[in-house]
Amino acid sequence: MRPAWHDLFVRRGALLEGHFLLSSGRHSPAYVQCAKVLELPTDCETLGRALSSRAPRNAVSRVIAPPMGGILIGYEVARALGVPFLFPERDASGALAFRRGFALEPEERVLVVEDVVTTGLTTGEVLQLVRAKGAFPVGLMALVDRSEDHSVDDLDVQALLRLRIPTYPPDQCPLCATGASLTKPGSRTVVSGSRP
Ligand code: ZN
Repeated sequence: MRPAWHDLFVRRGALLEGHFLLSSGRHSPAYVQCAKVLELPTDCETLGRALSSRAPRNAVSRVIAPPMGGILIGYEVARALGVPFLFPERDASGALAFRRGFALEPEERVLVVEDVVTTGLTTGEVLQLVRAKGAFPVGLMALVDRSEDHSVDDLDVQALLRLRIPTYPPDQCPLCATGASLTKPGSRTVVSGSRP
């Protein structure tokens, strides 16, 4: 059975199925664009509430999300939990840092929210930043978990969807072997069967 949220992602065009050319040059049978499932504020609110229901009760004093992808859903999770929200930005050296007067107090209990966790690299940077301020990451949530081991730095990823999407070099792509037409995500060409 498909997970409960799968259909919404497909309906909103956030989860495309077909034959895709990735920016890496590899081919894939599916493509995730979380921004599409957040396009309607009412959807974003619903998704934020759904994630917040999995947050450790009364244990979160603040929500943090990395830019850009995490900001909308992080804000809605913070709204549902009734706590403040903040986001870091990359400084001139490329490191994540707080600007705009945002700050974390030592010992704050921080929930990290992402749109997608894939390699966990950005998430790891956020966790590092939180810890560097003397605050505690108490949870990690994402709309979509594409990670290998469903955790980052020993924090489990709580996600609405867990997806394992294979990618192939073009010369070993089973979709190419069937003659399926190839689509570049973001282009106007839609692979047949990818949208309801
Ligand atoms: Zn292919």
